[in-house]
Amino acid sequence: MNSHKVLVFTGAGVSAESGISTFRDSGGLWDNYPVELVASPSGWRNNPKLVLEFYNRRRANAAQAQPNPAHIAIAELEKKFDVTVVTQNVDDLHERAGSSRVLHLHGELSKARSCLDENLTYSIGNKPIQLGDKCELDSQLRPHIVWFGEIPFFLDEAKNAFKDAAYVLVVGTSLQVEPAASLVNSAPFKAKKIMVTLEIEHSPKGFELQRGKAGQLVPLICRQWLTRA
Ligand code: NAD
Repeated sequence: MNSHKVLVFTGAGVSAESGISTFRDSGGLWDNYPVELVASPSGWRNNPKLVLEFYNRRRANAAQAQPNPAHIAIAELEKKFDVTVVTQNVDDLHERAGSSRVLHLHGELSKARSCLDENLTYSIGNKPIQLGDKCELDSQLRPHIVWFGEIPFFLDEAKNAFKDAAYVLVVGTSLQVEPAASLVNSAPFKAKKIMVTLEIEHSPKGFELQRGKAGQLVPLICRQWLTRA
């Protein structure tokens, strides 16, 4: 455990106040597209056009969103700490707020990749992917997104970053998507551990639970940690 290391683990809830709908809260983009059709390898095989349309809409939605006070406060922790952000989110709001080390476990909307080689990725910014857009191996480009049944990226790096942290802040995740959710169990027993969420679906052992909006609570927590450091 290193007293200068902070691990921040985020889910869809950290971006909710930026106008990006979460997976489980109703009223969002997800309601119009059944998850098994748009976020699974079988959905992609059956209807790639629908899958591309869904992620093109999500990419456009994320491009319009701005980082909120939670993203900004997390980035400001770098003034005094060595910070790793491990996120399940596919938007780039942590980077746009100024965080310099962000591990995207579930991929990134701003990248496309080859269907033949997952290491062949392309930065596409806010541009849509269309049927017929091909990689250099002549296969259709797909979103650089980890779908249900696929293996998340950076799991080992994320686990090591958890193990090393003196402060762990978990924000806006229901901890229902594995194996990402189990990473919280790698946090050291002695680390200061706080979880911020709207609802208490599941509170990991050893975490102080703060119930409320990320945009209000996270800046307060980060300010406290910076003052004490
Ligand atoms: P989730 O939708 O399962 O859970 C969101 C959690 O955030 C809930 O516990 C909810 O109570 C909490 N929450 C909602 N608004 C909040 C707020 N303002 N402040 C604090 N907490 C708030 O999200 P998940 O756990 O990240 O898992 C869903 C999966 O869907 C992930 O794999 C993720 O990749 C994907 N996803 C990503 C985005 C994104 O990139 N922004 C958006 C939707 C879904």
